[in-house]
Amino acid sequence: MEKDIKAENNPRLENLRNIGIIAHIDAGKTTTTERILFVTGKVYKIGTVDEGTAVMDWMVQEQERGITITSASTTCFWKNRNINIIDTPGHVDFTVEVERSLKVLDGAVVVFCAVGGVQPQSETVWRQADKYKVPRIAFVNKMDRTGANFFKVLEEIESRLAANPLPLQIPIGAESNFKGIVDLITMKALMFKEDGKNVDIEITDIPEDIKPTASKYRHDLIEKLGEVDEHVMDRYINEKGIYPHEIIDFVRKATIAGKITPVLCGASAKNKGVPPLLDAITNYLPSPLDIPPIDGTNPDTDEKIVRKVSENEKFAGLIFKIKTDPFVGKLAYLRVYSGKIETGSYVYNSTKGIRERVGKLLKMHANKQEIISEGLAGDIIAVVGLRGTTTGDTICDEDSPIVLETMHFPEPVISMAIEPKTKADQERLGMALNRLEEEDPTFVVGYNKETGQTIISGMGELHLEIIIDRMMREFNVAANVDKPQVAYKETILKHSRAEGKFIQQSGGRGQYGHVVLDITPGARGTGITFESKIIGGAIPREYFSSVKEGVFKAAENGYLAGYPVADIDVKLVDGSYHEVDSSDIAFQMAGSIAFNEGLRTGGSILLEPIMNLEVITPENYMGEVIGDVNSRRAKIESITDKANLKVIKCLAPLSEMFGYATIIRSLTQGRATYTMEPSFYQEVPRNIGEKIIEASGRGAGSRVK
Ligand code: GDP
Repeated sequence: MEKDIKAENNPRLENLRNIGIIAHIDAGKTTTTERILFVTGKVYKIGTVDEGTAVMDWMVQEQERGITITSASTTCFWKNRNINIIDTPGHVDFTVEVERSLKVLDGAVVVFCAVGGVQPQSETVWRQADKYKVPRIAFVNKMDRTGANFFKVLEEIESRLAANPLPLQIPIGAESNFKGIVDLITMKALMFKEDGKNVDIEITDIPEDIKPTASKYRHDLIEKLGEVDEHVMDRYINEKGIYPHEIIDFVRKATIAGKITPVLCGASAKNKGVPPLLDAITNYLPSPLDIPPIDGTNPDTDEKIVRKVSENEKFAGLIFKIKTDPFVGKLAYLRVYSGKIETGSYVYNSTKGIRERVGKLLKMHANKQEIISEGLAGDIIAVVGLRGTTTGDTICDEDSPIVLETMHFPEPVISMAIEPKTKADQERLGMALNRLEEEDPTFVVGYNKETGQTIISGMGELHLEIIIDRMMREFNVAANVDKPQVAYKETILKHSRAEGKFIQQSGGRGQYGHVVLDITPGARGTGITFESKIIGGAIPREYFSSVKEGVFKAAENGYLAGYPVADIDVKLVDGSYHEVDSSDIAFQMAGSIAFNEGLRTGGSILLEPIMNLEVITPENYMGEVIGDVNSRRAKIESITDKANLKVIKCLAPLSEMFGYATIIRSLTQGRATYTMEPSFYQEVPRNIGEKIIEASGRGAGSRVK
């Protein structure tokens, strides 16, 4: 298969890199990205994160042009190769965000701080990249800082990330004496020449004092490559020399195969080490041709389809992010997997089953938007004009529909009431929620009929925290928020048949609606389904949708504690009507009444979200972690080893997991990492359910039986 793809011999694709830069907060992701854009000549002024003006000027200008480097994808060129840098989220705990960027990038640079080393978030990111098999390069940044220690970070990458780091460089000096880098492939020194402003690189022989260390690491490099590639071993044993370009090839192969992680060093803020990092990105990270072709299914036949990365294939692409640009409006970021997309053409959104017109195509550079006429296989571009398309959708040629393996977005499990402080805030809130909802498929805005409050729902505490923070900072909304609450649901345990009558016939025109519903438990995750089984005209056809509407309205707030009702199949089986008094409203009311009655007699129960929790901890904290999750009603699924770490997988009810980030930090002194995501809904144990019902103010006594 691989040969077949390569046979196309497409230099544009061979020279293309779609990468992400990921890091623990503060390790230098932003600075490194900026310097890459500077070095590649697209940004002419260097922005400095700390020293306000330069970067502020630049950011303001950027905003005037309607783009910042936080664009979901930025393109730049290095030695005739094209690099698309895909923005990865700052908060890595939020797995869905990470998932969607990892899905569309082919390789990544993981930035570490030379002082902080492998920090908790670098561990989380690393594991997610492992899960998606993303080849990566490690960049040990901040070599100029007091306490910088390249070799300690190397050791941590190996022990804490269970990775196979392959240093391709070693630093010459460190801290304020960070003078250069030994390139272990060419065995030359790259010495930094500073003139106060710019940093040039002078290639020299390796300084005497560092020669022994350099030789040792060079020896290790070849040996390690030999362990993963027998061709190298052969050369090594037979003492044949290896040319630098051959080493580069071997390193490239081993990196793409996920066998090793090349490690480089530098100090982005001081402009040190960035050009060699760019060389490494283009030399070692995969091109779109190096990754397996994408698969999908034909939405009409369910047949599996594989699409090669080729301009000659039919068009298919994945929308991985929607962002609102103040100037052009809604931008849909697209990874083109096969074929090409053209301005002015029509594409088919196979996820939603709609036809969309491609208004404009844009290539995002750091400081400008370039209008392009077509987007080709492998590339990442932005599309303007897709009205009904949201994140995760596939767009494709109309005549060859395909749904690409989509990103999986779990249902929101946590909710919070939000109230704007002033009338002006109210307006801004509405706008902010609209935008945020459009950008983020896992964020849902609702309304509680009973309290009149706006309810926002998401995937976890941190998710909502981030959204509220954005609302305040980006949209300037002042609002009071309640504590987050578990998004419980209600369902029934057994089949019931329920009757609902809404009849008022005292003088004048009355009301008459009468229905009989069959209510059965449905499969988990199916919501409410409605079907009419009426034959023979017990109720005129025109009222079927009224009954349905009544059922869905009643399902918004269930009978037990006001939570939405789910996973029930409703069938309208019988009823009666009145020539004059029957109306849409009367049948809606009758539908609601019957549904509520069905919930009561169907043995309503509450469901709670169960989270998939994975904790990775050093062994000496395992006891504490297990003891703690056990006290939270969690069920341990497995405990496995990963290098010298323990991986504990469990299923835990969300209601017991509030504040877990803080808890796990204090239990393990910050050494454990965890990921948590919604998995499924499950019946709430009876005693707990009773408390929830009591707390909702609908305790048994107050419920009308
Ligand atoms: P991010 O959170 O990973 O995007 O990190 P930033 O790029 O915002 O950097 C965090 C802080 O580290 C800022 O104050 C930077 O100026 C500083 N920083 C970044 N790179 C370096 C470096 O190479 N050396 C030193 N000394 N500081 C750096």
